[in-house]
Amino acid sequence: MAQQSSSNRAPVGYDDTPLIHGSEWRVHDGTRPQPRIITPGTDSLQDTPGQPPSDAILLFDGSDLSHWIGRDGAAEWRVEDGYMEVTRTGNIETKAHFGDCQLHLEWAAPVDVKGDSQGRGNSGVFLMGKYEIQVLDGYDNPTYADGITSAIYGQYPPLVNACRKPGEWQTFDIFFTAPRFGGEKLISPAYITVVHNGVLVHNHRAVMGPTGHRRAPAYDEPHPARGPLVLQDHGDPVRYRNIWMRTL
Ligand code: MG
Repeated sequence: MAQQSSSNRAPVGYDDTPLIHGSEWRVHDGTRPQPRIITPGTDSLQDTPGQPPSDAILLFDGSDLSHWIGRDGAAEWRVEDGYMEVTRTGNIETKAHFGDCQLHLEWAAPVDVKGDSQGRGNSGVFLMGKYEIQVLDGYDNPTYADGITSAIYGQYPPLVNACRKPGEWQTFDIFFTAPRFGGEKLISPAYITVVHNGVLVHNHRAVMGPTGHRRAPAYDEPHPARGPLVLQDHGDPVRYRNIWMRTL
């Protein structure tokens, strides 16, 4: 497998955003060091999706979007050949709401590479609709470190860049602990662990608040103990398959 190049293209990011609390870096800082690029191991997932465990809640088995709703009611992403694809009809979210969970999903960036930085194969997985694990074609695609593939967006770059090539199926296994609130007060933050293509990229990160663009993260207000799983429509035809969850 060819390695991604480490060419010296111009950095992409911002120098006018707020400092991340407790960090020397600004939100989406263009000078924050990039995660090291590695080549993930191989698996048998390219032709066939994996098989969910017996106690998982199947959120998408390749056949229909019956567990999802869209911007205007029914989810309208395209379903074909066992996958769903973003169609510029808005984000979709699960009808069911979740708190602590183990989430598995498989996704592929468009094989037809268009755009660059945040404009290439962008989507996202939002736990509780608020905490984004970035989906992006991060293969040989420089962008700001806290916005690369599998970043906890605007907060933590992944430990390494374990991207596969555009068009290849990739896996996310996400272990999520919801934040706890007591009245108006935060008792404990959300914690996120992420495995990307079999490689640990976040190990029990304390999330600083809901993720956002150019915004200093903070738990400004309490939110319900459960929320929907949201998949982002960022305008790029990213595909998903084999989405399942185990509630914890
Ligand atoms: Mg995104």
